[in-house]
Parts: sequence; C-alpha cells; structure tokens
Amino acid sequence: MNDYELQTDRIVQKVRDNDYKSVLLQFPEGMLDEPLNQVQKVLSDEGIQVYTAGDPSYGVCDLAIALAKRLNCDLLIHFGHSEFGFHSQVSSVQSDLIDIMIIPAYYVPPQELDYNSLIDEIRKKKWKTIGLASTIQHIKSLDKLEEKLTEYNFQIIRYKEGQILGCNVHSLQIGDEKCDGFVSIHAGYFHTHGILLNTSKPLMQFNPYSGGIKTYGEEEHTKVIRQRFTLLTKVRNIKKWGIIGSSKLGQLNQNMIGNIQSLLSERKLESLTVVAENINPQMLSNFTNIEAWVVTACPRIAIDDKIRYLKPIITFKEFLYLFHQLKWEDLLEHGFF
Ligand code: SF4
Repeated sequence: MNDYELQTDRIVQKVRDNDYKSVLLQFPEGMLDEPLNQVQKVLSDEGIQVYTAGDPSYGVCDLAIALAKRLNCDLLIHFGHSEFGFHSQVSSVQSDLIDIMIIPAYYVPPQELDYNSLIDEIRKKKWKTIGLASTIQHIKSLDKLEEKLTEYNFQIIRYKEGQILGCNVHSLQIGDEKCDGFVSIHAGYFHTHGILLNTSKPLMQFNPYSGGIKTYGEEEHTKVIRQRFTLLTKVRNIKKWGIIGSSKLGQLNQNMIGNIQSLLSERKLESLTVVAENINPQMLSNFTNIEAWVVTACPRIAIDDKIRYLKPIITFKEFLYLFHQLKWEDLLEHGFF
C-alpha cells in the first residue's frame, strides 16, 4: 500500500476555523481505498458530513465545483493534483459560496529512494546537463535527486518545481535545446508518451515505486511522431468535422472552438460542435455523420485510447497545421498540444 501526505491536520484546522459542516472529497482513481478512508475518518470524527465524488478525477482541470454546490457543501477538497497549469481557473471559482483545498498528496516512499543505478546510467550516457521533471506526487523525490546530481557536478535545468502534466511538459520543453537528456520521476507510460511527443532529447524514466529505469531515445520519439503524421495524412481531406468541447472548468476553451469554426466555415466545410462533461467513445459514436474530430478539451483524448474511438481525433495544434496556420516544424519544435 502506498503512503501519501494527506495533510489531515491542515484539513481539520480549516474545517474547525471556518465551522464547516459538510465537505465533498475528490480523489483520483488509485487513492479511493486507504487515503480516502483516512480522510473520511478524520472528518467524520469532527462531526462533518462527508460526500465523495464518484466520477473519475484526472486533474485540477476537473474540479467537482458543480457537484459541491449542488450538495451545499462548504468545502471541496481535491487530492492528488496541484493548481499547476490551472491557477486562473481555480481562483475564478474560489468564492464565498464554495471554499476549495487542493492537496497534492506527495508520495512518501517506505525508504529513501536509491538513485545510484540512475546516476550510473546517466554517467554511461555521458550526459552533463540534465532536464529534470516529475509528476506532482514525486516532486519531493525530485528535490532529493537534484541534490544528488548537483553533488556529482551535473548541470541541472529545472523550471520552477519541474512539474509535468499529461497535457503540459513545458517544464522540460524549456530546457530542450540546452540539455543532453531528461530524467523524469513518474510511473507508467502516460506521461512518457506526452514527453516523447513534445520534446526531442532522450528521456530516462525513473519509476519511484519499482526503482526501474527505462531510457527512450530517438527511435521512440520518431515512432510516436510518425503515428501522428499517419493520422494527419488520413484526415487531410475530411469534409465533415466534429469539434469536441468539454464543460469541465479547466477544459472549456471557447476561443479554440471559435477559431476552428471560423477556419472551417472560411473553407465552406461542415462542422458540428459537441460539448459534454465527459467525452467517451460511446457518446461520440452517436454522431454518425462526423468523419473526424478535433478536440478542444483534454488533448490526451486525441492521443490515448485511439483504438476505442471509431473516428480519428486530432489536437487543436494538429488542426492548425492541417489548415496551414502552423508548420510541421512548429509541431516538432513546440509540441503537438
Ligand atoms: S487536461 Fe487532461 S492531461 Fe491535462 S490535467 Fe486535465 S485530464 Fe490531465
């Protein structure tokens, strides 16, 4: 079982100070067992009425504000993410009507992570300047790794905290030209895929749970980019476009929608704009006239689960490339989303 910093003392202080009576908890999948139980117990002991959001929570883009308001909760506590990338959206909904706490839930390793093999691997590659990043849970481990690498005289490029999201690897992109390679602390392939698609240097992924190290080089960058190129070739002559929008707080991009609509109408191409809270293959499959989609919501809808969707889906930047507003080199240099 993994251990996380849930900041329960801070939560209790907050509800006591404000005399809150009811709270909505929002956890990502994977934290719905012990972490949820711990927080639920602490709040119930304080006599607070506790609700738990049941819909999946993938990021702060997805704060359950509407549900918290409908339940008349005083406080929404969102776990497992930070405001990174969504500061303005979060401040826009923080009001007298609903208070919000965002708890990153930093991972607490059972023992200090062993970085020796990672440092050996970096030395074998003869990297001197390294771009560092991690997902929010592992930012504290990234601090320790930076300390170690600095002791060994490596040059570090770490933009602010070095945090990455599935839709935002700016922390790495910023050092793409100067570094020899990237080291990122995260588990799974989801963030790896985002990094490979939006940067050009080799990536060494350190899995904080298993201690595993995996290196991705030019071949893997080329593979994910070629997949996008093949898809874009297929949709080049599409006549009926669907535009996907999301009503989620951090995913509603009306300017993007307007831009796409204008580009399509200038070329006398048909389009339909579909806005939903949750976008899934079944919902999109009902729009049988649409030949391909462009997504203005979470860009990962266009990248992941491609097999589950019947029609091709591309990102906003890819759409701009197709309609000659961006060059292919722009995507290669600045990323596909
Ligand atoms: S927009 Fe998508 S990738 Fe970005 S934080 Fe939200 S769910 Fe994650």
